[in-house]
Amino acid sequence: MRPAILFPLFAETRALPGVGPRIEKLIARVAGTRLVDLIFDLPTGLIDRSYRPKLIRAEAGRIATALVNVLEHVKPPTPSRPWVVRCSDDTAFIDLVFFHARPEYLKTSLPIGSQRLVSGKIERFRETLQMPHPDFVLDPAKANELPEHEPVYALTEGLPSKSLHRAIRAALDKVPPMPEWQDAALRKTRAWPSFNDALLAAHAPRSDADLLPTTPARQRLAYDELLANQLALHMIRAQLKTPKGRALAGTGLLKRKAIAAFPFALTEGQQQALAEIEADMAAPTRMLRLLQGDVGAGKTVVAMLALLQAIEAGAQGALMAPTELLTRQHMASLSPLAEAAGVRMALLTGRERGPSRDKTLAALAAGDIDILVGTHALFSEDVAFCDLGLVVVDEQHRFGVHQRMQLQAKGAAPADVLVMTATPIPRTLALTAYGDMDVSRIHGRPPGRKPVATRVVSDDKLDQVVDHLRGAIAKGARAYWVCPLVEESEKSDLAAAEARARELRAALDTGVGLVHGRMKGPERDAAMERFKCGEDKILVATTVIEVGVDVPEATIMVVEHAERFGLAQLHQLRGRVGRGSGKSSCLLVYHPPLGETAKARLKTLRETDDGFVIAERDLELRGAGELLGKRQSGMPEFKLADLAAHGELLAIARDDARLVLARDPSLKSPRGEALRLLLYLFERDEAVRLLRTG
Ligand code: ADP
Ligand code: MG
Repeated sequence: MRPAILFPLFAETRALPGVGPRIEKLIARVAGTRLVDLIFDLPTGLIDRSYRPKLIRAEAGRIATALVNVLEHVKPPTPSRPWVVRCSDDTAFIDLVFFHARPEYLKTSLPIGSQRLVSGKIERFRETLQMPHPDFVLDPAKANELPEHEPVYALTEGLPSKSLHRAIRAALDKVPPMPEWQDAALRKTRAWPSFNDALLAAHAPRSDADLLPTTPARQRLAYDELLANQLALHMIRAQLKTPKGRALAGTGLLKRKAIAAFPFALTEGQQQALAEIEADMAAPTRMLRLLQGDVGAGKTVVAMLALLQAIEAGAQGALMAPTELLTRQHMASLSPLAEAAGVRMALLTGRERGPSRDKTLAALAAGDIDILVGTHALFSEDVAFCDLGLVVVDEQHRFGVHQRMQLQAKGAAPADVLVMTATPIPRTLALTAYGDMDVSRIHGRPPGRKPVATRVVSDDKLDQVVDHLRGAIAKGARAYWVCPLVEESEKSDLAAAEARARELRAALDTGVGLVHGRMKGPERDAAMERFKCGEDKILVATTVIEVGVDVPEATIMVVEHAERFGLAQLHQLRGRVGRGSGKSSCLLVYHPPLGETAKARLKTLRETDDGFVIAERDLELRGAGELLGKRQSGMPEFKLADLAAHGELLAIARDDARLVLARDPSLKSPRGEALRLLLYLFERDEAVRLLRTG
């Protein structure tokens, strides 16, 4: 249970003064729905109102503050013209300009003959100084209401900056004084303020330098977040490792049979990964290993050999994939090896029901099935293995630490765990997302695979792209066409994808399928199936995930609005082609003008197809939070830490977390108690729960 001291921070923003249903929704878009989201929404800029020139020297284009005399109100000749309030100081005139003015309001706030303190952007129109719509108009008696330095926050359309400001201020007022959870020596050497002071300082920049991620305040906050992350991961790891594992040493017999039946030799990368896995499995501790490698790097074969080792040791194995379709693909590609080794494989997904499901479950419990392949259904309550030794999870970057914990909660506790991911992750990130696991990497790809020719094209040449497709399809090619979804207007994007499918159908006179995120499973699988068997030559897809199929005949990948994708995502998409023997190409269609980052991204893709190189580059270009798109990645979302800027702190946080847990495993010391609070503050509740039960 969350400690009471944090309750105010987890209240909804609508409880704040000035936040009604409309503003609440807009705030949710930029920050979140709770006060804690607001206080961690740090400013991205600042307005400096300390520039107070004499008007005669005021520079156009700058924000300025001036004490002026109100001379006259000039009513506009027509309603489309602005209302002008002429003012002056003792050096020059200035016009305050108001479009769509409310005259009564202006007359009371700027009475003729009065003095007013005004602040806003100075412009020069012909010879006259102007200040259109001043940000502040104050009675000089209330000059202290004018903020000299105003933080600027990221906004969304329709959200007035004043509303967001007020909400953030109000939220900051509700932050209770927190105990110190950081090590005193570290704080001292780094000159870090307390949490409360750091938060206030981060929201009150006085110069551009105060906005840098390297300020003591921002570093402190980033470190708080990183430490919470590392602590949680280490606690989870400790918990997962605790159940004594078993030694699954193989005889090598089944593996040898399978390898003999495998038409290729294992690559060096595969052999190395396999050796690491074999050693882990044979050891009496529990294996928790992540197997990383690009799509097509040959992970599945390695996983199969690991499963065979479990069976050699007399146990059973399970292979879990995120979708129905992928489980069937695994079934199909692994069956020959299973047959060669003489092991019995069965499939279990949500679709298996009734007597056939009952039969599978009975055989499983009796030990008559060696390997069960399936979706999450594998871990339904009624699924009981006779003796589960190894669980392989093919995560296709959807499987976060939460799911890994669920897996263990669902009774797979003593089994070894191998997670395969096709998402090459930079080392720093691997530490934050998978700090609870050991990592094996398969570099490179199996021999014989041709590189994918990558071209970058502007979307005003879309006709040429379509012509190219026409030619290729006439020769029997198959193509993916990806139209990205942008969250803000999912509906209209979907409409755009549908329109694109229609256009391609008309232009190419061929079967064009469409898959998108709103489709139901069976409907989507059917569309995939039509593409897979060649009935449809083109598959238009709105998201990355849906393209998780293996269609060796597909040799062309077209990505529209490639500039909207992250580098790693583009790399994943490109990995869908070049899987067969045919020559493959990837056309990255962008909508000009291309920003610097987008340019660098597309250039990287043309230069390399090593997923690990690309991942490191992506991290540099975008910062960790954006890597892969947050929601699909299973990556932790950092609100305050920016791994590109704070990477150095991560290693410190890791060591810090280790040390803390070694000394005080149940977080009972005073610092431990404070750290529990930190974990709740950053919503690592599940880790704290482990402490309770563990
Ligand atoms: P991943 O699971 O990493 O995406 P797979 O294991 O599915 O990759 O392998 C992709 C393709 O490469 C499969 O068709 C597989 O048969 C083939 N393959 C795997 N290992 C080798 C190898 N050592 N030599 C040649 N081809 C291989
Ligand atoms: Mg695979």
